[in-house]
Order: sequence, then structure tokens, then C-alpha cells
Amino acid sequence: MYLILIGPPGAGKGTQAKILEQEYGLKQLSTGDMLRAEIAVGSDLGKKAKAVMDAGNLVSDEIMVDMIANRIEQPDCAKGVIFDGFPRTVDQAEALDAMLADKGKPVHAVIEFVVDEEALVDRLNTRIRQTLDAGQPVRGDDNEETLRNRLSVYRNQTAPILPYYESAGLLKKVDGMAPIDTVTATIKTIVRG
Ligand code: AMP
Repeated sequence: MYLILIGPPGAGKGTQAKILEQEYGLKQLSTGDMLRAEIAVGSDLGKKAKAVMDAGNLVSDEIMVDMIANRIEQPDCAKGVIFDGFPRTVDQAEALDAMLADKGKPVHAVIEFVVDEEALVDRLNTRIRQTLDAGQPVRGDDNEETLRNRLSVYRNQTAPILPYYESAGLLKKVDGMAPIDTVTATIKTIVRG
């Protein structure tokens, strides 16, 4: 089964993806985590991606599509995948459709996390304070200015994929501001169809 979670940064996609991973035996693929792993090992790809990510912009479709095309063929993705942070553009969505069509395995559902942007800014500022209080390093793209850019990138480049999935009859919405358990329960109902 292939599930896609779509929503602005900080909407709770990662939290839900981890819960669903356990629940359904699927593999969470967070393209943000994959890119951060490339940065951590200092690969060429990581070096290229870092400045783009720190500014809150999108890494190129070509890089992202290649990354996912290779990753979904790995044995740990055999039972299916929860895409967390991919696709983020219409071109990525079309490329993913083509990949899955080749495998004869369609997308099961696309779940949009509907959230209040100002509440996301508040959540981020709270998270930064807590991280600093715990003496831990704050991520390079974790600041209000970058978040505001990421929200605008989401509106301009990622939100246009919603009508694409809507017209395919795949799009379902969840209230991303609801408590974590409530969001999980809603997603499970959607997945059961
Ligand atoms: P995330 O952890 O999903 O919020 O991603 C962090 C950053 O990684 C984003 O702000 C982008 O710069 C980059 N990124 C992650 N996924 C993608 C994607 N599918 N396409 C382009 N850039 C991405």
C-alpha cells in the first residue's frame, strides 16, 4: 500500500507517518530525513542540498525523483510506503505515478493535513525554545523567517498537487490541528476506505 501525506512543514506528517508505519508495516520515507542524512555524511548531494534547504526552498525535482525511484525498490519498502514530504511539486507527483504504474501498484490515498499557518509559527517557536532549553542543536532551517518561506513555497509549489489528486479521487483531508490520536483515528478510517 502506498500512502501520501501532504501538508505544510510542522503539520504533523512525520508524527503520523511513524505511527502508521508501526500500524500497517509500511516504510516511512521522509525525503527531508533522507536529505539530512546526505548532509550528515557530507556527500556531494548533501553539499548541494544544504544551502537550498537552509533557505527553505525545494531541492530539484530530478534529484528527488531519482532518490525516491531508487529507495522504493529496496526490500524494506516491499510491503508499501508512507510518503512524508514527497511529492512536493506537480512534476514529482506525475513522476511518482509513472513509477508506481510501472510496478502495477497505485496510490491508495492522499491525505492532506489542513492547518492554521499562524499556529504552525507558534509551534515552531515553542519547539526551538524547548530544543535550546534541552541544550540540543537547532536544525538549520528551524527559524521563523525560513518557516515563513517554506509556507509560501508550500502554497505556491506544493498545494497545486492537491487538485491533481482530487481529480483522481484520491484526496482526503484531516484536521492537522486536532490532537495526535484524533488525527491517527481519522487516517485509519480513511485507509480502511
Ligand atoms: P522536510 O523535513 O520534509 O520539511 O524537508 C526539509 C527540506 O528538505 C525542505 O524544506 C526542502 O528544502 C527539502 N525537501 C524535502 N523533500 C523534498 C522534496 N520532495 N522536493 C524538494 N525538496 C525537498
